[in-house]
Amino acid sequence: MTAIARREEQLWSRCAGCASLLYRKRLRRNLDVCPECGEHARLGAPERLRQLVDPGSLRPLSDLLPEADPIDFVDVLPYPHRLTAARASTGLAEAVVCATATIGGHPVAMAVMDFRFLGGSLGCAVGELITRTAERALDDRIPLVLVTASGGARMQEGALSLMQMATVSQAIAALREAGLLTVSVLTDPTYGGVAASFATNTDLVLAESGARMGFAGPRVIRQVTGRALPEGFQTADFLLRHGQVDMVVQRRSLRGRLVALLAAARAGRAARVGHPPVPRQEPSSRRERLADDDAALARPAEPPPSTAGQTPAVRDAWDTVRMARHPARPTTLDYLDSVFDGFVELHGDRLGGDCPAIVGGVARLAGRHVMVIGHQKGHTTAELVARNFGMASPAGHRKALRLMRVAARLGLPVVTLVDTPGADPGVSAEEQGQAAAIAENILTLTVLPTPVLAVITGEGGSGGALALAVADRVLMLENAVYSVISPEGCAAILWPDRSAAPQAARALRLTAPDLCRLGVVDEVVPEPSAAAHGDPAETAHRLRAALLANLLPLLDVPPAMLVRLRRQRFRRFGTTRGVNRAGVR
Ligand SMILES: [Zn+2]
Repeated sequence: MTAIARREEQLWSRCAGCASLLYRKRLRRNLDVCPECGEHARLGAPERLRQLVDPGSLRPLSDLLPEADPIDFVDVLPYPHRLTAARASTGLAEAVVCATATIGGHPVAMAVMDFRFLGGSLGCAVGELITRTAERALDDRIPLVLVTASGGARMQEGALSLMQMATVSQAIAALREAGLLTVSVLTDPTYGGVAASFATNTDLVLAESGARMGFAGPRVIRQVTGRALPEGFQTADFLLRHGQVDMVVQRRSLRGRLVALLAAARAGRAARVGHPPVPRQEPSSRRERLADDDAALARPAEPPPSTAGQTPAVRDAWDTVRMARHPARPTTLDYLDSVFDGFVELHGDRLGGDCPAIVGGVARLAGRHVMVIGHQKGHTTAELVARNFGMASPAGHRKALRLMRVAARLGLPVVTLVDTPGADPGVSAEEQGQAAAIAENILTLTVLPTPVLAVITGEGGSGGALALAVADRVLMLENAVYSVISPEGCAAILWPDRSAAPQAARALRLTAPDLCRLGVVDEVVPEPSAAAHGDPAETAHRLRAALLANLLPLLDVPPAMLVRLRRQRFRRFGTTRGVNRAGVR
């Protein structure tokens, strides 16, 4: 190759996605994402760190380890020769670079894998370096961020490589026990032993756009099954659809997403150790909103939240049912936009599905970080169909469960918004264990060591509603309903025919004032005279005030006390006397 040709090669590179010839400097400015087709080129660990951490904050951790060739492995070359060559070509000591740094001002410990070094393979040294990084996170009480890129365990170190999966996993478990956030960022490719351990057993899993992750590689699967693989198999979008990752993130958004998640975890931790964080400076419109919130807290909401016995304008129960189901009634995503700020949606049950009927993620309520989980319906037929009419599958209930547990670990309060005709009654839901999925949520909520505040915003349909509504405080919008069965279902069973639904609605005592009297609901959130669908903005305003008024006192209660009181709350429904007692509270 001539000197000119070599120089040309350094200036230009060819996109692996669309084969465009790209000017290198331009490509690097674009974070190594092809401006033509969006292909995310692979990054070495040093460049990845440069893109993610705050400038000047990087403090590399020692990568000095004794030379290791534990099983004297030789293929066509002795293993030490391969190590030497990898070091020479990458300038790295091993296939991972570990450091402490800040990201958006939040301190983290980081381990970033480099695929160029023997395929990012997990050997004893890589396992040791990542484990030390996790231990550093534990010592410093800071989150751990892992960026994975690996073909799997390192063959040249035999079963000792396999053991690294356990070594690193137990270090992650220690962070989990300590309530410190762990995040992995899957980059292309992440396979085998890395995929089956620390790439996926962290609290949150983000996949970079275009990344592929799996246990077995596509070549192996094709050989074993003898079949062609579906389009997009094991890609980030495939993983999202199958519940394996919280989100798919474009490289240019990755840092921002990490900042938002780290901020939530930091707030949870600060709240738990008894130092509530000062709300971060908000843009001016948000600041006004905060002022609104303070005002709403200072004065009783107007009109004052009605309590048991104070029925607002008496409306027929059947009319209320129709209001609760009104297609223009605000949905959970509407409230996430109008009541909360900075929602970062988290997806997937990690078992095989991501149910669109349940949405969840971290958000801020007047500057305070919370985990919000709610049923999602829709306004148009297309939206309703896409969301399965707000009827959650077992995957939806398991996603909610996962997020509740993450919230508890990180010290974030849980706010649930309940609006479902009921859990998905389909065949596949039964095959996947709908009953057990609901049951596990209910049980977990009775002992969840973090504040839980539930709001029935529309339809509170049966077990599917309760799966999100075992809470310290249960609020209900004035025109919502909450019932053991739909009026139509009840009429079909107990009346001569379904046309008796209005009578059934009255008999079931499913309105907010009735349920307040029965002690099932603690507080009715009044809707404006035009109802929630007629005045969504005012409804959001009142809901925010009610959420804050009910959440803030819970933040001061120690978790063990919260759980005890929550269990007492649900214990009192055991007898008629208990219900009566509840009725006069
Ligand atoms: Zn391209």
